[in-house]
Amino acid sequence: MSDTNNYQISLLTAMNSKLAKSENMLKNICNISEDAYIYVDYEDKKMHVLGNWSYFFDIEADSLVSLGQIVDLACDDYLEGLHHILNLEKTGETKASFEFKLRDKQLNILSRVNILYDEAKFPLWKIISFSDVTKYTNQNEELQYMAYYDTLTGLYNRNYFVMSLNEMVEKARINNTVVSVLFIDVDDFRKVNDGMGMIEGDEVVQSIGFGFKALMDDNVLVSHFNSDVFCIAVYDPMGRRSVDSIIEQIRTVMSKPFKLVNGKEATLTVSIGVAEYPESTSNYLELINLAEIVMLKAKNKGKNNVQYYDRPIIDEFISNIEIEKKMEKALKEQSFFMNYQPQYDTATGKLRGVEALVRWRSDEGKTVSPETFIPIAEKNGAILTLGDWIIEECISDFSKWNEKHIGMDDFLISINVSSIQFKNKSFVKYLISMIQKYNISPTNIELEITESVFIDNMEEIIHKMRILKDFGIRFSMDDFGTGFSSLSYLRDLPIDTLKIDKSFVDDVVTDGSTRTIAESIIDLSKKLGFDTIAEGVEHEVQYSLLKNIGCENIQGFYLGKPMSFEDIDNLLSERD
Ligand code: C2E
Ligand code: CA
Ligand code: CA
Repeated sequence: MSDTNNYQISLLTAMNSKLAKSENMLKNICNISEDAYIYVDYEDKKMHVLGNWSYFFDIEADSLVSLGQIVDLACDDYLEGLHHILNLEKTGETKASFEFKLRDKQLNILSRVNILYDEAKFPLWKIISFSDVTKYTNQNEELQYMAYYDTLTGLYNRNYFVMSLNEMVEKARINNTVVSVLFIDVDDFRKVNDGMGMIEGDEVVQSIGFGFKALMDDNVLVSHFNSDVFCIAVYDPMGRRSVDSIIEQIRTVMSKPFKLVNGKEATLTVSIGVAEYPESTSNYLELINLAEIVMLKAKNKGKNNVQYYDRPIIDEFISNIEIEKKMEKALKEQSFFMNYQPQYDTATGKLRGVEALVRWRSDEGKTVSPETFIPIAEKNGAILTLGDWIIEECISDFSKWNEKHIGMDDFLISINVSSIQFKNKSFVKYLISMIQKYNISPTNIELEITESVFIDNMEEIIHKMRILKDFGIRFSMDDFGTGFSSLSYLRDLPIDTLKIDKSFVDDVVTDGSTRTIAESIIDLSKKLGFDTIAEGVEHEVQYSLLKNIGCENIQGFYLGKPMSFEDIDNLLSERD
């Protein structure tokens, strides 16, 4: 053999061994891989099976002769897609991927295909890989579920609702149609949570959600926003799907008591606010806000109510927010001040004391009525800070009068106390600390409370009142006759004074039955040992009549309007 031949042989051997080596390497890599591969060689028209084959397919690797065998194993839904990708060369594409499931295995399989073509566009080889993506698919589905669904009710969540509402409004814009949003809030849901427990609360929400789910169709989107809030969007609300019919169905869902696992039952109502595109607003986010604001109005109207969008409601809401902001500032800058309205004893004509009435001088120099800002302060909690300030101011003012004038032992300063303020834990301690700080007698203080304070927890309130009464403080029942006014409960309350509301005083002269009621209130009050005082007396005739039917004390514009600290100081000087 020639040297050249020898050389060529050793070159070939070397090349062969190199080829064998890389083939081996490829096999090893494929074998440790968790994926399976099919290599189709178009030159020798052979299919080579590599990698983790048996993990995916119950076909012996040697017996695979056609890719159709794999297609046969797939679930029906994937047959077409899988056939397409496994025969990708028919389309002339070079790359594609497809996810499918097998009939006999709980796997999500991702198949990728890669093809190399020659210059004439004939395929040279094709690689098909199979990977198990079950874990990722499940995670993805879960993530997607969590992103769009509420896990408690299985309804759509807020995110999805907002997204879809945007699309609905867009569609309505193009088609010149309408979208209604219903903001639904369960009434007194806190009572379910507090009274029965959180788990039962969740159960109730779940049942309501289940009931509302039945309202869903192509144009009605039902979602659970949070806790006890649901939102429904209705596209093109007309005919059978009108808002009225949706509300009717909501009422039907709510009309049955919800049965709980523990055997208990809960009967609930909802308050609903409705806003509409394009009438209320053209902005989809604002649509939800407006529906929520009018829902609050439905609640204020006494719950179990529906309120449709109405601009004045929104304006009031906005102005309340502005007042809220200003009030925070006023509390810091001390723009509040006290007025005092005299109260007189009808038998002697002597000054009994004064009712303290708070005032607010706004930035514009106007005096804002407590009827405007007290309810807001009660809602946002500012009443606690304001109430503390009022108590200190009243006690401090009284201590100044007390030092200066004689005969102040029987003088009463009546301070209005909001239910929220009275229920606050530190109320008793604070009041007593102020009485001590200004070194006055607690017997000069009368607290005016209203019946609403007893609504939630009568015993606890009475207990608190007793502590203060033992200390020497008096209680007056304000606005008597306007609340739930059950006369029988009066007997059990540790009060000293009954304050007959102005609404009775207004009609006492002109209306016989009002006079009868006033008379019997005064009678009863005396029998129970209470002091009586009529408020809002504006005319002499009212004064005389009330005096004649036995009313012991009178307060009203007729005898004196609310006035400043100095005015009362002057009144006391005249008396000295
Ligand atoms: P209220 O406790 O029933 O106070 C009586 C209201 O009737 C006062 O209104 C008083 O100015 C007014 N008034 C008195 N006599 C007459 C009269 O002859 N004719 C008419 N038309 N009105 C009369 P004001 O001061 O505007 O207070 C309104 C309400 O605001 C009070 O009703 C009370 O609920 C609340 N409020 C006032 N000051 C305070 C306070 O310091 N603390 C708390 N928590 N609430 C207060
Ligand atoms: Ca009062
Ligand atoms: Ca009153």
